[in-house]
Amino acid sequence: MASLVLAEVQSGDLGPSVARVVSAAAHLGAPVDVLVTGSQAAKAAAAATLLTGVRKVLVAEHPQLSGSVSEPLAALLQQLSGDYDAFLAPANAVGKSVMPRLAALLDVSQISEVTTIIDRNTFEHPVYAGAAIETVSVSEPRLILTIRASAFAPAEVGNASAPIVPVAFTPLADAPRVLAETVTASDRPDLGTARVVVSGGRAFASRDAFDSLLAPLAERLGAAIGASRAAVDSGYAPNDLQVGQTGKVVAPDIYLAIGISGAVQHVAGMKGARIIIAINKDASAPIFEIADYGLVGDLFDIVPQLTEALTR
Ligand SMILES: Cc1cc2nc3c(=O)[nH]c(=O)nc-3n(C[C@H](O)[C@H](O)[C@H](O)COP(=O)(O)OP(=O)(O)OC[C@H]3O[C@@H](n4cnc5c(N)ncnc54)[C@H](O)[C@@H]3O)c2cc1C
Repeated sequence: MASLVLAEVQSGDLGPSVARVVSAAAHLGAPVDVLVTGSQAAKAAAAATLLTGVRKVLVAEHPQLSGSVSEPLAALLQQLSGDYDAFLAPANAVGKSVMPRLAALLDVSQISEVTTIIDRNTFEHPVYAGAAIETVSVSEPRLILTIRASAFAPAEVGNASAPIVPVAFTPLADAPRVLAETVTASDRPDLGTARVVVSGGRAFASRDAFDSLLAPLAERLGAAIGASRAAVDSGYAPNDLQVGQTGKVVAPDIYLAIGISGAVQHVAGMKGARIIIAINKDASAPIFEIADYGLVGDLFDIVPQLTEALTR
């Protein structure tokens, strides 16, 4: 049998998580196909053909499959399920919504947020907000996995080109419709896959300060911007920047936590970072327990100085 990766497509482009989920799928030891969906799938499909380890790229183009609506995507995966015994998707909003539906349709259990594939039937994933790692052994005939993409190195972009195979989709009679979709445009790196993340917390005390202090620093570092939930709940940063248990899970090379206390729910989203740098005026803040480097002081003094130093 074979494994099928549900591709993330962002504004017609292949999402950065796909290469990582393909590399995760390779650990299952079976051929890996990628499924690209939407009404304009050609560009993303072409990019997927170049990923090392991909046998073929399935393309399903139908209006019901645009716009991240979960029910038609789950139905399509079910329609393809005769050829596959493993289905993988990134553990992002779409994957977390589609895969449980597919699991219900196929009557198997799902394994969520997989961080390590030990063998075809054995997986590791975090539980209790990342406080423990659980090893799960499954005997299901079919695997349905959401993958924590940051835990896997991306598959390389090679020279060989896998074939593109159009697949038929039987549309749903009563599929939900997307009435409008608002996409946040940003020139910054994607938070989920950025090499450097600069995150701000409640200490910024206003949206103005959050933007005016963090944006120049992020620009100097080529970094994505993240935020604690307190910063998001206070309206300093949009919801999609939240890092943590109920936000995004990131594993950049460098994570700067600025004015963030280091609550367990925040740490659950960033402790996989290779180097953690904390700036906090309270020397006993828990964030210093996991930080590789710490600066004790007022962020309103330190951040402008740091930005200035990086400009020179
Ligand atoms: C079910 C659940 C899920 C949650 N999910 C998440 C999640 O996904 N992500 C998340 O982040 N949180 C989450 N939380 C909330 C979490 O518990 C914390 O409340 C939150 O992370 C705190 O954010 P903070 O560190 O910005 O604020 P605070 O805890 O208020 O910390 C602010 C820090 O800034 C420092 N500081 C203040 N002024 C300055 C200054 N001028 N210069 C330098 N430092 C300064 C302070 O010393 C303090 O350490 C969740 C909570 C629950 C219950």
